[in-house]
Amino acid sequence: MATDVIFFGAPGAGKGTQAQILSSQYGYRQMSTGDLLRENRERGTDLGNAAESYMQRGELVPDDLIVEMVKEHLPTAAGVIFDGFPRTIEQAKSLDALLEALGRGLPHAIYFYVPRSTLEERLLGRWTNPRTGRVYHERFNPPKHDRRDDDDGGPLIQREDDKPDIVHHRLDVFERQTMPLIKYYDETASGRYLKIDASQPILTVTGELLGALERRSSPWLKTS
Ligand code: ADP
Ligand code: AMP
Repeated sequence: MATDVIFFGAPGAGKGTQAQILSSQYGYRQMSTGDLLRENRERGTDLGNAAESYMQRGELVPDDLIVEMVKEHLPTAAGVIFDGFPRTIEQAKSLDALLEALGRGLPHAIYFYVPRSTLEERLLGRWTNPRTGRVYHERFNPPKHDRRDDDDGGPLIQREDDKPDIVHHRLDVFERQTMPLIKYYDETASGRYLKIDASQPILTVTGELLGALERRSSPWLKTS
């Protein structure tokens, strides 16, 4: 049976990159709260307007807004990759309750570990397709044509929150508000929690993820 999987880790850890590979090639459905918020901001919805100032400052958007948005967009079948959600203990508890109420079983959780100096290098060199959310890196994963998307050929942009000052703040916010999830899943998700070394090359990380997801019927290693 398909399982729901949480990808959590610092901004720049490679969650979106791996979620895109797994959803385009292996049948998972990616649900990125960052992408959903940016879409709402573009469309000028109430949610987008409410979220904008938090996103600009690199702060987390309040839990109640995020949980409401996830409920509204949750695919009906299991096999979802939650990319960048949950980011707080409150969000994690809400997701567990939501999935249990739907009879889907609790999600597997994967922590993408990358040292901070590498995260900065990744975020400062990230180029994004604002239309699809697909990401590139100027050195580690460049597009075929300079600053153009491989699929739609349109221009790539540098996100405003990928500028140095905001990047440093987002990494601090991660350490303060999201790192407690490591303990939460270690304690509550016995056999469903895995930490991976996401500082390795993109395809090596993909191989480790696929290996873990194929083995998911047996308990996962706890490596934290
Ligand atoms: P996240 O979704 O966790 O914020 P992304 O997937 O957007 O992270 O990756 C951040 C940046 O790092 C992007 O520019 C991406 O191309 C690059 N990247 C992702 N994974 C790796 C990797 N394993 N090695 C090197 N660069 C990577
Ligand atoms: P991301 O694209 O995942 O880096 O997210 C970009 C921004 O959107 C973050 O800096 C937050 O302001 C907001 N955001 C995305 N996901 C969440 C979440 N699960 N909880 C709170 N804020 C979020």
